[in-house]
Amino acid sequence: MLELLPPPPTDPLWDLTYEFGSDERAERLNLVLGVYRDHTGRTPVMAAVREAEIRLAERSESKEYRGLSGNAAFNRALLTLVLGDTGPQGPAGRAAAVQTVAGSGALRLLADLICRTRPGATVWISDPAYVNHRPILEAAGLEVRTYGWRDAEGRFDAAGVLRDLAAAGRDDVVLLQGCCHNPTGVDPEPEDWEALAALAARDGWVPFVDLAYHGLGDGLEADLRATRLLAERVPEMLIAVSCSKNFGLYSDRTGCAIVLGASERAVRHAETALQNAARTLYSMPPEHGAAVVTAVLEDEGLRALWRAELDAMRGRIEANRTSLAAELAELGWGAQAASLVRQRGMFSMLPLTPEEMLRLRRQYAIYGTTAGRINIAGIESGRIPCLARGVAGVLAG
Ligand code: PMP
Repeated sequence: MLELLPPPPTDPLWDLTYEFGSDERAERLNLVLGVYRDHTGRTPVMAAVREAEIRLAERSESKEYRGLSGNAAFNRALLTLVLGDTGPQGPAGRAAAVQTVAGSGALRLLADLICRTRPGATVWISDPAYVNHRPILEAAGLEVRTYGWRDAEGRFDAAGVLRDLAAAGRDDVVLLQGCCHNPTGVDPEPEDWEALAALAARDGWVPFVDLAYHGLGDGLEADLRATRLLAERVPEMLIAVSCSKNFGLYSDRTGCAIVLGASERAVRHAETALQNAARTLYSMPPEHGAAVVTAVLEDEGLRALWRAELDAMRGRIEANRTSLAAELAELGWGAQAASLVRQRGMFSMLPLTPEEMLRLRRQYAIYGTTAGRINIAGIESGRIPCLARGVAGVLAG
């Protein structure tokens, strides 16, 4: 049977990561995957997470199956974290959350939910988008269309986005990244979010918000503002939440899918549909990460420690970005670096073509994606001048 299998496509980001693994040059720098690293180049377990793990291990709770929606306390805690403590009359009062296998699992379950409600529906994604958006949506049987994101100067193209999305109708869903857009680092301004919310309310399309980097852009509350604004303005909304980056729980696969509906009945049905989708894919999500997040969020001290660590991570990312732009300016490439400082979150787009990104890899052992994306959160502080020299070298031809 397997002899009949044609060569399948491989994941371009993991391909680059494997290529990096066999690169023996001492100066090699891996900026491909979105993983936070501290100033020494390590991806640490956050202190709040470590403490929560110790407490959980000491309490040694049973590993019996959880409910169909996973860890109920985790779902409640994430609902409140994302939408705020809105009370029963607010958005959180007409929402349900189902624990998922991280953000990717939430995207897939919500895509399944869309397909169940509106088979073959169209979902709009940004161009460029997170590499996995289209594959996940298409795997669930959905049609994908794109809307523009940036203008020629690399800024958010408000007019273009609104023009493209004017073609989205009542039966459509629009996938929006709530903050720290991957791969561009370019986010809408508050007035742009207002305009998007007004468009959704007027035309009736359903916002589908992907939240993977909240806390790593302008701060936790600020990064959640757009999601909360949309939730106030539209009757129905879908939210995929990842705890991979802001809790550093990458391999524990922790996240949740949130649905907001206009009636209690609709929300209940959507929750059951999400449970059913999970049941046929993997049955139930893993408990550990969800238990850790719950222990952190429910304890005042651990929550404060987590917030402080998250702020420190955000500060380091910001400092990396500013110092890369400053180094490039010093080397005579200030105009090219100007867009870098406006970007937010873990990623930056270098002002390089795919051929130049290849040269950056071949000549300087610096690995970013072919499209020019680098993980600005993945650089040891001492290596920024070396990155700037590589970029400047490539720009100089
Ligand atoms: N959405 C976006 C925009 C992402 O960048 C990522 C991870 N790179 C995810 C979702 C999914 O993350 P995970 O499944 O690891 O939580």
